[in-house]
Amino acid sequence: MTQQPVTPRTILVVDDDEMFRLLASETLQQAGYVALPAATGREALALLASRRPDLVLLDVELPDANGFDLCTGIRAGSGGADIPIVMVTGHNDTDSIERAFMVGATDFMLKPVLWQTLPQRVEFMLRAQDNLQSLRISEQKNRALLQALPDTIYIVDASGTLLEHITGVERMASSTLVGSKLEDVMPQDAARIARRAMAPPVDVTRISTCDFEVGSGAERRCFETRFRPQADGTLVVITRDITERRRTELRIKYLAYFDTLTGLPNRQLLVRDMGRAIRTAQKAGTLVALLYLDLDRFKRINDNLGHSVGDALLRAVARRLHQCVRTAGTNRGSIARLGGDEFVVLVTGLEQESQATVVADRIREALREPFDCGGHRFVVTPSIGIALYPKDGSEIEDLLVKADMAMYKAKDQGRNGHAFYGESMAIRSLSRLELENDLRRAFDAGDFQIHHQPKVDLATGNVVGVEALLRWHHAGRGWISPETFIPVAEECGLIVALGDWVLQETCRQLQRWAGTDLGHLTVAINVSVQQFAREDFVESVLGTLRRFGVRPQLLELEITESLLLRNVDDTTSGMKRFRAAGLALSIDDFGTGYSSLGYLRDFPVDALKIDRSFVKDLSSRGDGGAICAAIIALARELRMRVIAEGVENLEQLEFLRRHSCDEVQGYLMSPAVPIGELENLLRSSAEGTGVFRRMLGIEPDPTLDLIAANQ
Ligand code: C2E
Ligand code: CA
Ligand code: CA
Repeated sequence: MTQQPVTPRTILVVDDDEMFRLLASETLQQAGYVALPAATGREALALLASRRPDLVLLDVELPDANGFDLCTGIRAGSGGADIPIVMVTGHNDTDSIERAFMVGATDFMLKPVLWQTLPQRVEFMLRAQDNLQSLRISEQKNRALLQALPDTIYIVDASGTLLEHITGVERMASSTLVGSKLEDVMPQDAARIARRAMAPPVDVTRISTCDFEVGSGAERRCFETRFRPQADGTLVVITRDITERRRTELRIKYLAYFDTLTGLPNRQLLVRDMGRAIRTAQKAGTLVALLYLDLDRFKRINDNLGHSVGDALLRAVARRLHQCVRTAGTNRGSIARLGGDEFVVLVTGLEQESQATVVADRIREALREPFDCGGHRFVVTPSIGIALYPKDGSEIEDLLVKADMAMYKAKDQGRNGHAFYGESMAIRSLSRLELENDLRRAFDAGDFQIHHQPKVDLATGNVVGVEALLRWHHAGRGWISPETFIPVAEECGLIVALGDWVLQETCRQLQRWAGTDLGHLTVAINVSVQQFAREDFVESVLGTLRRFGVRPQLLELEITESLLLRNVDDTTSGMKRFRAAGLALSIDDFGTGYSSLGYLRDFPVDALKIDRSFVKDLSSRGDGGAICAAIIALARELRMRVIAEGVENLEQLEFLRRHSCDEVQGYLMSPAVPIGELENLLRSSAEGTGVFRRMLGIEPDPTLDLIAANQ
């Protein structure tokens, strides 16, 4: 049975015999086709170009052309390569038939034609053509997929011999690996894992993995391999080249743990080393000294002679300090730069307090010789504050704060000297307890507010969402920064109630915006590890969304990297549930706390927020951009959005745009503002979002405004 096509197919009938044209057209039309009769070669070519028929019936003999030549011409013309051409001939000789195929005909037909079978012949030919076409498309798709996939795939039989080698097309042609043994294409260890995966009893649901490296030095490449046994006894091996990712990881790790100006460890690495040093000292019963060092009047050099001289001086100071600490005798020391002209020396294995004084004196001695930098000669003196473990505390941050306080005392005492932390300085740290009490009171009294900071899409200049940030106005002290009170709230557990309140207020806000011109805005809230760790957290967030009738797509949760390093299974399942419900998850302060980037891929995350300390570096020195660029590249690879926070000037903005960052947030656009102010900013589109667009150099586009307004 011939099935009726949805849109009638068109058949070009080329013959100089009028009777043939008439009968063929009639028969085809009755069978539901559209027939296009042509008496000459020229007519045929014109119809081919204008009507693009689905099939051609072509007479071998035409008055103005030879049918064979015409067939060649059609094949060579645009769109003519795939069209089925049936040559109709009166000569029942192999020569004509052979010639027909030579010039690219699809089939041939003998005159006189059996008219009742013509529709079936045509139908079969069209169907074959359709199949061929869809095969071609799927082949093209497969090829594109393979090319896009940076993977090599091997199929291996039970004896470990490569049966197939599938890879990007260019490499496929030259593959001579089929027939080789697994041991020939990967290191012994990896091959061993492969063989183990194939050994009975085979578990087809189990995927084994391993990483390996090939080559050395600059040639070294890293591979990640997965093995999956098949029910037929073969093994699928997928190998991915992860060299670039590894390099990026190392680079980011370096940038995250080392100070790019001096090459010294930074605060992050110092904190890690201190943790280790304190644990060791605890066991050995020794002391740890923390020397907080600040160069006297360094700011003047920087301000008067410029950053490049200041930077050169800092580098020279760092070299000398490093040298001094390394040769500090029996006590083990290490040094870090905290930023600006502040350095910390960590000394372990001390028996007595007085030994810390010896180290401080040695440091001053090391700096005594003047420095020659940029044609100037400088005399540099340090003020050194000292805090000791266990006497002054056992918490890293606490010791740092105390050493810092002692450093100010050293400065007060006339600079170029050292001072130990003393009890009289404890007033400041006592206020933490006060703070905690005040915090509870403020929460009960409802003294908190939420301000919102816009996030701007770099491509369009549109505000796509806002971040909710807590504000606390303290009756006696004025505004207190969340940087100060959030850690206290976390410590005393109040953060859970506070976080609930932020969520509820955010949902209330989203409910108010729903259906208005601001109904498209997403709101991101900051979530503490402590909140996320609660068993009922997911349920409580989803419950609150439901209670206020808010679409989950409008809420984004900002979490920190440290969360990902805790109880991985629980965290992942929580994240998956959020994502399944439609919420977006982003990683806040990205780049400051991770230990390995490999884990990122395994978490369902939508976006990375580049920490503002890295963004800050963008404008000071050329080098600062490396980490931002690396994070953006990483996000691309993992198909995540990237948001840069703390954007304060056009230089930073320009850099981020050049590197295709997705969104920006910062004082340059707007600080976090009360809700009324935000609404004014967004609504007066000419002054508001228009401002961002002008800032970004994007032409105002009235349709965008319209779309935004109607969303
Ligand atoms: P964050 O999540 O990294 O928030 C961004 C911080 O950067 C905000 O500080 C914001 O005001 C500030 N900022 C924005 N643009 C710029 C800029 O251009 N330059 C500079 N220097 N800073 C900029 P804020 O509001 O003081 O918040 C500090 C931190 O407190 C937040 O850091 C977040 O970790 C925490 N926090 C704030 N609200 C909440 C909350 O509701 N819950 C939780 N758990 N933490 C919160
Ligand atoms: Ca945040
Ligand atoms: Ca942040």
